[in-house]
Amino acid sequence: VSRPDHAGRLARAARELGDGDLDALVVGPSTDMRYLVGHAPRPTERLTLLVVRSGEEPALLVPELERALAESSPAAGVAELRVWRDGEDPFALAARELRGASRVAVGERLWAVHVLGLQRAVPSAAFVDAGPLMGRLRVVKDEDELDALRRAARAADATFVALRGTRLAARSEREVAGELGRLLVEHGHDRADFTIVASGPNAASPHHEPGGRRLVEGDAVVLDFGGELGGYFSDVSRTVVVGGPPDGFVEAYDLVRQAQQAAFEAVRPGVAASDVDAAARSVIEAAGLGHAFIHRTGHGIGLDVHEPPYLVAGNDEPLVAGMTFSVEPGVYLEGRFGVRIEDIVVVTADGGERLNEAPRDLAVF
Ligand code: ZN
Ligand code: ZN
Repeated sequence: VSRPDHAGRLARAARELGDGDLDALVVGPSTDMRYLVGHAPRPTERLTLLVVRSGEEPALLVPELERALAESSPAAGVAELRVWRDGEDPFALAARELRGASRVAVGERLWAVHVLGLQRAVPSAAFVDAGPLMGRLRVVKDEDELDALRRAARAADATFVALRGTRLAARSEREVAGELGRLLVEHGHDRADFTIVASGPNAASPHHEPGGRRLVEGDAVVLDFGGELGGYFSDVSRTVVVGGPPDGFVEAYDLVRQAQQAAFEAVRPGVAASDVDAAARSVIEAAGLGHAFIHRTGHGIGLDVHEPPYLVAGNDEPLVAGMTFSVEPGVYLEGRFGVRIEDIVVVTADGGERLNEAPRDLAVF
C-alpha cells in the first residue's frame, strides 16, 4: 500500500495560491483536508482549521481534545499543530496564522459559523471560494487513487451480480435497499453510502428514497448504489425489470443504453465536459425524449461521490487524462417508469475506460 504524497499536495496548493493572487487557503474537516494532510476529523462546532500559505509551514489548528487524533495522523508530519483549549478563542489563533492576508480562499465545507468567526477575526481580508483551486488539485487522479476507484467499482459490480441471483418480486424497496447495503460491504466496501431502489412509477424520480412499496410484475426498477472503499467511492446504476417490462420500456432502455455508449465514446483528452453531455443528450433528443432527460450526464468522483468535473451544458473545461466521472444519462416518464444506466469512466491517454463492467443487458428478475 503506497502513501499519498501530502507534502507534494500542500506544496502544489501553495503554488496555486500565488498563481491565483491569494494569500492563504483555509480548509475545515472535509475531503479537502483529507486530500491535503490525510486527516479529517468529524466536523463539529469546535474549530479545526488547516491554514496553507506560500513560503510558510502549513498550520493545523486543533482543539486540545482532538490533539492525540491529529498527532497520530499523517497531518503531524506535514503541518505544525496549533492546539487550543476550550475557553480560548480559536479565531484569535487563526487570525495570527492569517496575519497580513488580504485574500483568503475558504474550503467549501467549512461551516458557516466558522467562516463568520474568521471574518470577524480578520475584518480586513476578503474571503473567496476555494472550490476552483481545490478542484484543480483533486480533479486529476494519480495511480493510487485510480486503483482505489477501480477496486470500489469492482466491488459495486459484484454487488449487482450478487443481487441478480435473488428474487425481487414482493419485496419492498426498503428491503432491497437494505440488501444492497449489506452486499456492498460483503463485496469489499468499508461502508455503504447510498442505495436508491426506485420501482414502478417511483423510478421516474431520479433521487427517490426507497420506501414501503412492494415490487410487482411489470415494474421497471432503478438501482443506484455505492459505497466507500479506502476513502474512495463507487457509484453505479442499473435499471432492471420484474417480469414483463411496462409498455414503451424496452425502447426507452435501448435508447438510454445507446446514449450512455455515445457519451462514453465521446470521452477523450481535450474534449469539453459539455460535449460528453451533448453526446448523450443528442441521442435522446433525436428520439423525441429530450424533455425526459432531466439531469446532467455525469459528475466527477473520488474522495467525494459528487465532485468536479461536472458533465453539464456550459462546462467547457477540457477533459484531461486521469479525470474520473460518472456517465449516467436517464429518461424519466412521470407516472410510468424511469431508466438510468451509470458507469464510472476514467479518461485515458487516448479515450476513456469504464471502471464498471456490471452487465448492461436488460436484467429480468
Ligand atoms: Zn449513481
Ligand atoms: Zn452518479
